[in-house]
Amino acid sequence: MAATQKLACFRLPPLPTIKEIIKLYNLRAEKQLSQNFLLDMRLTDKIVRQAGNLKDAHVCEVGPGPGGLTRSILKAGAANLLVVEKDTRFIPGLQLLSEAAPGRMRIAHGDILTYRLERGFPAHIAKTWEDVPPNLHIIGNLPFSVSTPLIIKWLEQMSNRTGCFMFGRTRLTLTFQKEVAERLTASTGSRQRSRLSVMAQYLCTVKNCFTIPGCAFVPKPNVDVGVVHFTPLAQPQIQQPFKLVERIVKNAFQFRRKHCRRGLEMLFPESQRRELTEELLRGADVDPTLRPTEISISEFRALADAYSKLCEENQGLIDYDFREELKLKHQAKRQLGSNHKGLKL
Ligand code: SAM
Repeated sequence: MAATQKLACFRLPPLPTIKEIIKLYNLRAEKQLSQNFLLDMRLTDKIVRQAGNLKDAHVCEVGPGPGGLTRSILKAGAANLLVVEKDTRFIPGLQLLSEAAPGRMRIAHGDILTYRLERGFPAHIAKTWEDVPPNLHIIGNLPFSVSTPLIIKWLEQMSNRTGCFMFGRTRLTLTFQKEVAERLTASTGSRQRSRLSVMAQYLCTVKNCFTIPGCAFVPKPNVDVGVVHFTPLAQPQIQQPFKLVERIVKNAFQFRRKHCRRGLEMLFPESQRRELTEELLRGADVDPTLRPTEISISEFRALADAYSKLCEENQGLIDYDFREELKLKHQAKRQLGSNHKGLKL
């Protein structure tokens, strides 16, 4: 009996279907905001199940749009749902849903890229980083246009334990273009291995849960979609600052098909390039002939530690940018050229 009552409290009163909401409020999808809606509640329920048990949970949903996924989150028992939506056209439909779940849903009109999520939830739900994850989840059928910058931003916040990670190891369940989902979860040596794989996997356990065919969305996007679940690691696999790790990984992957040495040497000014690259690779005990895709996370850890040591020993190295050096070199060359012309005249 008690169980039936519990289930009943998650049930929503009869509401217009999502299709009817779209018609009622004339919610034509805007391509500019990457709007592809999910109308099949079995699919939205399936996405929400990947987040785990949402009973009494605090949840932030990114881009609720007409509210299909939102309904599934409420049905799963979330007690405190904050939805962040950029497009004001969806607000009336979301208000209807909020009224159907009194006291359980708040609507914020805003841009998730700048929204201060840490202000959206009470401090008492926080757990220490090493503890079990807090009962706070981020869920979203993300707009393609913001999914990659958004996950990079959240990975950085995870590393610094800021934003929604001030509450501890907040879990994320998000959709990405299938190709991006594959990159996020690609293992060492695989074809899809990329910067994103390393940056995500050194900080989280990343799971590619399932693929949704493009035809399940309205309008149909040109690509299939992957649902990815992230649980931040209690002990990140690399213990250096995010920006330093990002620098190493970005350089390593600069020349994807070449030996990693080729990209890594660009971390150093031309005058010391040869010695410092040798020192880095020797210090990290990494084979210079590995391709970037073949470098494991523990080898990236060794590279980050060795690079950090080099930066301590060589002032200004951390700010070195080979593009700047190249630019200055070209400028000097041009200047020299015009001086010569001047002399001839
Ligand atoms: N959740 C809905 C669903 O599954 O049917 C809609 C998903 S649609 C792919 C993406 C949603 O994110 C749209 O409602 C869009 O207006 C919203 N959106 C786009 N950019 C956003 C941003 N920067 N911040 C918040 N919402 C955004």
